[in-house]
Amino acid sequence: MHRAYKLRIYPNQAQKELLDKTFGCCRFLYNKMLEERKQVYKELKDDKDSLYNYKYNTENKYKQEYPFLKEVDSKALQSEWRHLKSAYDNFFRNLKKGIKKGFPKFKSKKNRQSYTTFNVNENCKIDFNNKKLKLPKIKTWIKYRDSRVFVEDIKHITVSKTKSGKYFASILIELESNISPKQVLEEDKIIGFDMSASKFLITKEFALSNPRFYRKEEADLQRLHREVSRKKKGSNNRNRARIKLARLYEKVENRKRDWVHKITRLLSEHFDCVILEDLNLKGMQRFNSGLSKSVSLDFSWNQFVTILKYKMEQRGKRLILVDRFFPSSKLCSKCGYKNKTLTLQDRKWICPKCKKWHDRDVNASINIRKEGLKILKQDNITIVNINNHSAVGTTVEAFGEDVRLSFREQFSVKNESIAL
Ligand SMILES: [Zn+2]
Repeated sequence: MHRAYKLRIYPNQAQKELLDKTFGCCRFLYNKMLEERKQVYKELKDDKDSLYNYKYNTENKYKQEYPFLKEVDSKALQSEWRHLKSAYDNFFRNLKKGIKKGFPKFKSKKNRQSYTTFNVNENCKIDFNNKKLKLPKIKTWIKYRDSRVFVEDIKHITVSKTKSGKYFASILIELESNISPKQVLEEDKIIGFDMSASKFLITKEFALSNPRFYRKEEADLQRLHREVSRKKKGSNNRNRARIKLARLYEKVENRKRDWVHKITRLLSEHFDCVILEDLNLKGMQRFNSGLSKSVSLDFSWNQFVTILKYKMEQRGKRLILVDRFFPSSKLCSKCGYKNKTLTLQDRKWICPKCKKWHDRDVNASINIRKEGLKILKQDNITIVNINNHSAVGTTVEAFGEDVRLSFREQFSVKNESIAL
């Protein structure tokens, strides 16, 4: 099921020029392709077999012939090819039924202009807080006016311009809310994480660093703050400095949001169930401990949990939050001994009872996972072991490699702060 949101967008002059150029290139390509089809139809209309099997030039072929097409969104050009093909197929479907109508028409500059692009690797983005939309190939964000909010991923966007010169973006999203939750989960796909200040999420197989979005920009932020306060109140200079500062905050916010969306999408794709600790304020302090105030802005736990929960449920999967009083760090994950003397400073410890050596965070993540499995069983969820590993310790390694690879592909190249 799909839903579309049509927003009025307010591109600036430079953005308008780029949008208009894209409309123009799309129209040009469409008409060129249609010309070809018309020609072929004329020549082969009495030779049905050849006509049906004719290989038309792709939009890439046209790009080689008309290099200026490369300057606009390639997804938009691909869409033109698709549009024409479906219009053409329609025409032939009618023809087979004996209805001779609907041969696609050339696009005119005088009509409503539009192009459709689709979301690949998050190249279409929307920022609800600042009411801005990001389209592929257009480097700056475009303002819009609308108060609606959605959490689903964008499927595609149709940008249009009315004859009177108003611009709109129609955003198509896919609703998957009718998916019922899975009652059978694969053990390999159940993962538990512990979290700490240095490593955002830790499990036995991999750890995701806490990306310090603000820390990286902290010096710049402080400098801009100082600049604002030095300038005279009400002066133009002060205003300019304020705008600069706001822009930097926005930039960091956007980066942060992209990151949260990306990581929650990956987790929800890879796992049937994610188990985390239900953090309270104290836990948050632990998470942010030792970091300066601006760094505590780095990460919004609530935002992360809300989006992750949504994305898991959208796929019929689960997010489980283990009780905040569960002593995840203090329990030995092997024998269950409770180490009451363990302090926050103890990063490693040896269980006095079974002599097992523990990394504090990894041990906690195993305990969190175990506790989550208990909750799943209480909820009458069936847990199956498809790969036939007997102990938890080995099953978690089964998915380790490809998950690690996938996470690495998605993160480490672009964001070096994420160590796996
Ligand atoms: Zn033990």
